Amino acid sequence: MKFIERKELKDKKTDLKFGKNFTDYMFMMEYHDGAWDYDSACIKPYEPFVLDPSTSVFHYGQAVFEGLKAYRNEAGEVRLFRPMENMKRMNESCWRLCMPQFDEKFVHDALVELVRKEKDWIPTAPGTSLYIRPFVIAVDKALGVHSAKNYIMSIILSPVGAYYAHGFDPVSLYVEENYKRACKGGTGHHKVAGNYAASILAADEAEKRGYDQTLWLDAAENKYMEEVGSMNIFFVIDGLVVTPMLGGSILPGITRRSTIELLKKRGYKVEERLVSVDEVVKAADDGTLNEIFGTGTAAVVSPVGSFGYHGKKYTVGDGKLGKITKYVYDELTGIQTGRVEDDFGWVERII
Ligand SMILES: *Cc1c(COP(=O)(O)O)cnc(C)c1O
Repeated sequence: MKFIERKELKDKKTDLKFGKNFTDYMFMMEYHDGAWDYDSACIKPYEPFVLDPSTSVFHYGQAVFEGLKAYRNEAGEVRLFRPMENMKRMNESCWRLCMPQFDEKFVHDALVELVRKEKDWIPTAPGTSLYIRPFVIAVDKALGVHSAKNYIMSIILSPVGAYYAHGFDPVSLYVEENYKRACKGGTGHHKVAGNYAASILAADEAEKRGYDQTLWLDAAENKYMEEVGSMNIFFVIDGLVVTPMLGGSILPGITRRSTIELLKKRGYKVEERLVSVDEVVKAADDGTLNEIFGTGTAAVVSPVGSFGYHGKKYTVGDGKLGKITKYVYDELTGIQTGRVEDDFGWVERII
């Protein structure tokens, strides 16, 4: 892989706002003439793309992405959490949008090389990390609707602060009944940029109503819990952990799967099944709704203190951080940073 040096490096003292600051270098690779051009792969100074106004991604949205984090501890060790899972999922997302498959090991190795190169950008304070954003876009210069013949893959890096800088505050969710994020047979199962475009209006309206995020219901029956904006969702009802089963419209989160595997291995019973909004409302009413939490790379685990449905606000448990929520958070972040032994083989230490 080529490496292009940057003349002046940026000041590494940033305010760590999520996704606002980017490191000195980026990865880039091109696809043309029917194949990924692995010779074009390079680590080069972070800089803008120059793209023709007719470029296909601007018009028809052939774009997929991933999100993962590198953690650096006080000893200077750097760890990635299940990075090959992100590679695999990005390839599956590419497949769904008719975009070309890539060599997962090659891109993984390029990602590792980029993070190693930028290790001084990785913050070390508790809860901080380097957010890694791989993505692929279609770059044909043509307005016809068809799968493109030219693509760019890139990886950019952004140092991020602790998600819970002001403490582990539970969020509130608004159960959305009018708009849908995804349906079976659509693209909700994949990490596709357009899924987010379709979700922003509901997020805005939830915020106007005083809620932090949207809790999506299924598109067919408007009845079953699916997931949150960029997190999967777990319920603890009468001591039992339940999460909506994957069924084609829910994003298969790596944190979701890790949470299920972790809890099962530690002796908890976890059910993956349909979870209706009625079941959760009933549990809230009769006092058996112990906890709700979201899982995703950005927050790792996010406690939910309340939710709104049909114009009514329901409190989850005592509205504070729940026991299982805290346990999952402590265990997962412990494994990610090396504080807790990784008996799953999830962590890849790269420095
Ligand atoms: C990325 C994402 C998640 C979380 O996935 P992780 O692999 O755990 O980060 C959940 N829902 C949606 C819609 C997502 O895009």
